[in-house]
Amino acid sequence: MLVCTGFATTSPTTPLSPFTFNRRDVGAQDVQIEILYCGVCHSDLHFARNEWHYTVYPAVPGHEIVGRVTSVGADVSKYKVGDHVGVGCLVDSCRTCSACAEGLEQYCEKGATGTYGSTEPVIGGPTFGGYSSSIVVDQSFVLRMPEGLELAAAAPLLCAGITLYSPLKHWGAGPGKKVGIIGLGGLGHMGVKLAHALGAHTVLFTTSPGKVTDGKRLGADEVIISKDPEQMKPHGGSFDLIIDTVSASHDLSPYFMLLKRDATMVQVGAPEHPLPIAVFPLIMKRLNFSGSAIGGIAETQEMLDFCAAKNITADVEIIPIQKINEAYERMLKSDVKYRFSIDMASLKA
Ligand code: NAP
Ligand code: ZN
Ligand code: ZN
Repeated sequence: MLVCTGFATTSPTTPLSPFTFNRRDVGAQDVQIEILYCGVCHSDLHFARNEWHYTVYPAVPGHEIVGRVTSVGADVSKYKVGDHVGVGCLVDSCRTCSACAEGLEQYCEKGATGTYGSTEPVIGGPTFGGYSSSIVVDQSFVLRMPEGLELAAAAPLLCAGITLYSPLKHWGAGPGKKVGIIGLGGLGHMGVKLAHALGAHTVLFTTSPGKVTDGKRLGADEVIISKDPEQMKPHGGSFDLIIDTVSASHDLSPYFMLLKRDATMVQVGAPEHPLPIAVFPLIMKRLNFSGSAIGGIAETQEMLDFCAAKNITADVEIIPIQKINEAYERMLKSDVKYRFSIDMASLKA
């Protein structure tokens, strides 16, 4: 087995700290990757603190991974040593169910294997994520990092990027469509950039007046302070699509009022506690209320290539792994512009 170093937590209230663990040996289909950068997703925090009630400890979060291939198995054809590659939220799936057959591995009917928090298929125990020195992943779940994308800033594309790209594409965001993104955090700032790049009229909803200028710089045509009814009101019945990236439970009713008849509200934010839903706006305008999980492997590659063509990456603050607990506290205060990216060289410090 391969010995790895990383950062783990051992309970919902314990800070992350150095941790040594094993990964499986490189199998015939496997790629071993030296992790260079790992983005810090709010899901990492939900998971580390067991807010979704399935965490097994010790827990190593991290699913926005970019790195360099250091070894490949005998049957690996897609990658070679030295390639820059990415790994997102998935490291395996059943590959035979109807979802997998359609390239929707994230909806695998048998349950996809998550980069962290699932069961390691070869050596057992939990899968450990990207806050670590290296990872071993089947070549089918490894992404190619296009040339030209700065790696530290491209890492968040592997979760935040695809989580917004997939619903934007699925619900047809593009020219002539008015698209709202709620929350300017890691996911939300990718949503603003991607909706703008897809040609939609892009509107950011934020609770933070201090983010208005950035929202426009990142690609929003309009920015609305969502707590101000006077700013919300003129947009009544005008949106084709609104995507909610908020990490905490909040009232959706004001947003339902802004959708056109038959329009769609998509939940990608995954708060610990249930959301209150007032159903009348849904009824009276035949609205669609939906959810969306990351994206499949092929679509993730498509998104990376789209981002390379449009020169889109995340706005990142690069941190050493030793600052991860502080980063979590800052993320909870919406004090990050707009994604932390961990420089894994700091593990050796
Ligand atoms: P983040 O960087 O912390 O951003 C969340 C943003 O939500 C904040 O920046 C803030 O934006 C807004 N917000 C926070 N608390 C709020 C509150 N109480 N009321 C209203 N707005 C609030 O988090 P993230 O990494 O983007 O992740 C967001 C959520 O998506 C998390 O729950 C995460 O687990 C989930 N997620 C889901 C998927 C999926 O596949 N569906 C994938 C990845 C992550 P403003 O300051 O602009 O208001
Ligand atoms: Zn994530
Ligand atoms: Zn499947």
